[in-house]
Amino acid sequence: MARILIADPIAEPAIQKMRNAGLEIEMWNKETPLTEQIKGFDCVVVRSATKVTREVVEAADRLRLIVRAGVGLDNVDQEAARERNIKVLNTPEAPSVSVAEMVFAHMFALARRISEADASMKAERWEKKKLKGIELWRKTIGIIGFGRIGVEVAKRAKALGMSVLAYDVVDIDARCKEVGAERATFDKMIEESDFITVHVPLLPQTRGLIGRAEFAKMKNTAFIINTARGGVVDEAALLEALNEGEIAGAGLDVFETEPPTDWTLVKHPRVVATPHIASSTSEAQARVGELTAEKIIKELTR
Ligand code: NAD
Repeated sequence: MARILIADPIAEPAIQKMRNAGLEIEMWNKETPLTEQIKGFDCVVVRSATKVTREVVEAADRLRLIVRAGVGLDNVDQEAARERNIKVLNTPEAPSVSVAEMVFAHMFALARRISEADASMKAERWEKKKLKGIELWRKTIGIIGFGRIGVEVAKRAKALGMSVLAYDVVDIDARCKEVGAERATFDKMIEESDFITVHVPLLPQTRGLIGRAEFAKMKNTAFIINTARGGVVDEAALLEALNEGEIAGAGLDVFETEPPTDWTLVKHPRVVATPHIASSTSEAQARVGELTAEKIIKELTR
């Protein structure tokens, strides 16, 4: 029987599901070092707290699977795992819907000036005349990075009657056709969109993908949304663009430094800011557990 070591807590239903599938589950009590505890287990499950270092991988005698219940893989030494033929899996699909919905939370907040309206109401002001907004209907949204999250954003945008322009570095023709998006060049998307949302990973090629040159080409009425990673949108260039009136506003869930050390951008009147919570929903958390269990069962009970 395959034995699973749960190093960081995961949802109880996921543990039950694995037990029902005939897997033996044990929790790491953290009194024994992981280099000791790992012995005799086929699989280890971590979230973000536990680090599966080279030492841990090399101390394991039976390990064939490492599962990171969540998105990033920074806490797993993938090179060491590869050298020993240990498979590494994660659950990047778990938060896609939550992040996509957060994009619309930001878009509506910007379009209808919800943060400003709420702040003025709480200050006991009734600024009905000042707070005119815009509709999303018949506006154009440009989606940069048409992967899991980008596609979920597109589906929701279509349901709101928006035109969708999609840009990616891989072939996305089939995905575009499926959801009714138009594949666009980077420049067309930058120039014609009313809302631009980024869904690319942070890589050397995507750092500063939206910078001074891009803001200069955008409509003055455009809004930029970043729920991907801080750094994809150049913060200094964004602040300048907002101050110069080159764009209308920004919705930011991620920042170059988290938490920010310089709060100027966050405090800008035309910025709606959230503290990297796009994937923080009960459903996304539950899905992490479900997907972790499903993947382990598939790998270890064949
Ligand atoms: P994904 O891998 O499914 O999609 C990313 C897409 O970006 C791919 O289609 C890829 O081809 C494309 N891409 C890569 N480089 C590009 C470039 N230079 N120009 C254009 N497109 C490029 O990833 P996903 O699940 O959709 O997630 C997207 C990003 O969202 C992640 O990388 C992560 O940083 C971020 N994210 C944020 C949160 C949050 O809490 N705010 C949660 C989950 C994910």
